[in-house]
Amino acid sequence: MSSEPTAATPAELDAADPLRDRREHFVLPEGVLYLDGNSLGALPVHTPARVAELVEREWGQGLIRSWNEAGWYDLPRGLGDRIAPLVGAAPGQVVVCDSTSVNLFKVLTAALRLRPERRVLVSEEGSFPTDLYLTEGVIGGAGDGPGGYRRRLLGREEHSLEALDALLDADTAVLLLSHVDYRTGRLRDMAAVTELAHRHGALVVWDLCHSAGALPVRLDDCGVDFAVGCGYKYLNGGPGAPAFLYAAERHHAAAEQPLTGWFGHAEPFAFETGYRPAPGIGRFLTGTPPLLALAGLQAALGIWEEVDLDALRAKSLALTDLFLDLTAPLGLEVLTPLPPEQRGSQVSLRHPQARAVMAALIERGVIGDFRAPDVLRFGFTPLYLSYADVAAAARALCEVVGSGIWREPRFADPGGAVT
Ligand SMILES: *Cc1c(COP(=O)(O)O)cnc(C)c1O
Repeated sequence: MSSEPTAATPAELDAADPLRDRREHFVLPEGVLYLDGNSLGALPVHTPARVAELVEREWGQGLIRSWNEAGWYDLPRGLGDRIAPLVGAAPGQVVVCDSTSVNLFKVLTAALRLRPERRVLVSEEGSFPTDLYLTEGVIGGAGDGPGGYRRRLLGREEHSLEALDALLDADTAVLLLSHVDYRTGRLRDMAAVTELAHRHGALVVWDLCHSAGALPVRLDDCGVDFAVGCGYKYLNGGPGAPAFLYAAERHHAAAEQPLTGWFGHAEPFAFETGYRPAPGIGRFLTGTPPLLALAGLQAALGIWEEVDLDALRAKSLALTDLFLDLTAPLGLEVLTPLPPEQRGSQVSLRHPQARAVMAALIERGVIGDFRAPDVLRFGFTPLYLSYADVAAAARALCEVVGSGIWREPRFADPGGAVT
């Protein structure tokens, strides 16, 4: 399988785990093994108190004074600077705002406008639907858009740099790709892909939804132009937490994002008639930030302060290796690449009745998810999963598949508990 069976037991691996103290920072229900942190991260212990503080003290007592006194006004930029080290960005290039979808619209449009003489947007067929749909929205259709824009998509089975190279040319304005594929967990070589796109004169937008907080990302080192990512997956900001947006400093002066709201204005409180963009990353803001939601993300980001991202990556790979080894006897097709440099922090297995299998697994307290038509998806969050958890989850999957319990009629209901 993916590696030699490890000699150490899960308990020994847990005892030697440099991240084992992070588990105490999360609330997880008794009897649940949570392998879905790639969809909705777990609740940090400090979040309820921080949200309550914002509501009761900053809002209730401070009222409008809190915009300045509690630092509300600076929070989108301040939280951006706290996410920056997780994605390899120097300060002043990341801002927290809106949803990933809205941020995609902003950076894709800004990137197209930075290459006005070019008409092609390249992306991938297998990408998360919102990314595909937003490319349609940005160019005005799936085919030939009204401004003469066209979209080209890399096929689902095309993973090589050569295949990508064949789609890029002197008319390519922007390349949008996911760093880690949401369905398969495949990790792309950010440095090589970015370099390839730049060789064709195109700008690159990376979707980091499944990599920020899951593995080290090196946006500045790779010379990336723009990136977006999610606040509620591996960053644990809470359901619907605001997303983040990265724009390399070299693009700040010229970048025009289309959602020119007052929070992106150079002087929002001058109440001018015309729009003048803020000088730095602030020009990517649009409207009033959702403070209650930002407070949740703010509490969650504190957990990262002492985390060594190389240790996080090592543990993530060790957890996925362990799960792959222990579930190998099932003989299920593994969609996730086995070479570590091509693997994110998840394992996807195929089973013809994946929906029923996942429902049976969830009944046993092992929460992963199902992606149509036949994918069992398991996310591995190194901050709160132990090796013992992963071994127990793998055992549960082996029992569910081996015993055939998933055939019982109660698991057949597609309206059931599977998310
Ligand atoms: C989760 C996810 C999103 C989510 O976008 P929202 O605007 O938060 O709904 C976008 N892209 C990818 C690749 C994702 O995995």
